[in-house]
Amino acid sequence: MSATYDLHSHTIHSDGTLTPSELVARARANRVDVLALTDHDVTDGVTEARAAAERAGMRLIAGVEISATWQRQTLHVIGLCIDACHEPLQQGLARLRKSRVWRAQEIGRRLKRKNIDGAYDAARAIARGAVISRTHFARFLVAQGYVPSAGQAFKQYLARGRAAYVPGQWADLAEAVAWIRGAGGVAVLAHPGRYQLTGSKLRRLLHEFKECGGQAMEVVSGSQPPAEIEHMSSLSVELGLFGSLGSDYHGPEQAWIDIGRLPTLAPQVCPVWTAFAPGYTCASSA
Ligand code: AMP
Ligand code: MN
Ligand code: MN
Ligand code: MN
Repeated sequence: MSATYDLHSHTIHSDGTLTPSELVARARANRVDVLALTDHDVTDGVTEARAAAERAGMRLIAGVEISATWQRQTLHVIGLCIDACHEPLQQGLARLRKSRVWRAQEIGRRLKRKNIDGAYDAARAIARGAVISRTHFARFLVAQGYVPSAGQAFKQYLARGRAAYVPGQWADLAEAVAWIRGAGGVAVLAHPGRYQLTGSKLRRLLHEFKECGGQAMEVVSGSQPPAEIEHMSSLSVELGLFGSLGSDYHGPEQAWIDIGRLPTLAPQVCPVWTAFAPGYTCASSA
């Protein structure tokens, strides 16, 4: 039997709800063999996750999901097999986290204009010192009864075009790829189907991504319709990009997604792990 991979997941170090040890335990229970931890703009969970994975007899891939901008569109670029000690990468991530604080304050001000008080402080408290994100605002809005669900919080307030949406000051696409490649990692465009781009714009994005050093794209992502998987699979073949798969697991609250529970890659797709350095063992620490 071939190994089970899940190359996209989150913990309490960004907007997930499990600790790295809890995440690894859940992955193990679901028979994952190779897990990548890819928190938003931070690698703080890698050391704990690696130790837990070692104890569980699993392989842990050090990763990160970098927030980036391309043609005014926010994109997520995953770095796999990164050296988390790499200074330019860490300096870049620190810059993004700083701009997240500014953005969160601005989100708070916009919610106040909608008569929602104290959102910034509350979201910060929910984040407990982790990387602050819109997810923490969504949890606050649900907890205070402003909206019935996190999905609704995005729909009414936080999604692009809504009253409290503030575009982030993220990395340029090429910059994000350069940080990942500089840290010895493999750059993967996350969930390409989620950006709602036209067919031709998506091809342009994939082409530019590849030109600036991007090597792979997610073809299998959490809660994705089968037709989209087929479409992404054929694009990966057409563009000559490796294919990745990952649940984008954030925790048990999202009951419709589970870690390691994913369709397999289609046989024509070249798996991203064939691009990992031979014997990659995550030797460097966070
Ligand atoms: P941020 O990086 O602060 O812009 O927050 C983005 C995160 O919000 C994503 O990684 C998802 O975890 C979450 N998110 C985005 N859109 C939605 C949505 N419609 N419903 C629930 N969560 C969402
Ligand atoms: Mn997230
Ligand atoms: Mn993402
Ligand atoms: Mn993610």
